[in-house]
Amino acid sequence: MKRPPPPPTCQPLSNPDFDRLKAVRPRLWTSPKDTCLTCLKRDGNTYRWYAADAANRRTEEVVTYECDCRDQWLMHLWFLNAGIPLNYQRLGWDDIKAVPQHIVEQVMGYALQAARNIASGRNLILWSKDPGTGKTLFLALLCKFLMANGFQAHFSQFNDVIDLFTSTWRDKDEREHWTRRVRNVDVLAMDDMGKENKGRIDVVEDMVDRIIRARVSDAAPTIITSNRSPQEIQQGYGVYAMSLLSESADFIEIPGTDYRPARRELSRQEADLGLARPITAV
Ligand SMILES: [Zn+2]
Repeated sequence: MKRPPPPPTCQPLSNPDFDRLKAVRPRLWTSPKDTCLTCLKRDGNTYRWYAADAANRRTEEVVTYECDCRDQWLMHLWFLNAGIPLNYQRLGWDDIKAVPQHIVEQVMGYALQAARNIASGRNLILWSKDPGTGKTLFLALLCKFLMANGFQAHFSQFNDVIDLFTSTWRDKDEREHWTRRVRNVDVLAMDDMGKENKGRIDVVEDMVDRIIRARVSDAAPTIITSNRSPQEIQQGYGVYAMSLLSESADFIEIPGTDYRPARRELSRQEADLGLARPITAV
């Protein structure tokens, strides 16, 4: 069986982007001719995974796919360059469990209205006081969906943004490149706001003030996940910038139980069945 090709918006990386990735990831997958993270170049470049139905939803039937190693590689680098780690590259909307359907539809609603939301700078804040409800998965899926539809997205951990914002860069051009990117990308996705060290609150406010404020004035949307309530978010982090951000934001509470134990069990089952999760844009 063949899987559908990557979305047409998935293009090979530019040389500078490729070099940048290689510099920070010594084990980067550099050639689909020699290695493959999906089929592992075994069984004549095939792997076993669930078949999809006509609506492209995963069924329970296991089939053998011919691996298009180059497609998988292109998508891998494309997502990696946008900050999306491999485990989230392999997860899709089918993997959302234990979140009520109307919530899934609300989040999808933002994606389906992407053009309008991005043009008008509509921010989105996915929050839940409980850990492991799938906020990060939603964030990664939104990024992949937006990229597949031709928008640029940058996925990052809130703490990493703070680290990069404050770190001393050896290369001034690299710093400039990063700053331009987080300020100007169509959609900036920041995961886990609220877990940062309390001692760094000044730095956090400074970053929020410089990056978020610049984005808000350009009407460039930011999507954030947080374990804080909307009220707590609005009262923290440089009141001015956050209130600007929340003025044009939708808050969606992601309820649910911790899905991680179930996810671990599922991974074990997949391993027992000898399945390989392909990298997917949906
Ligand atoms: Zn392969």
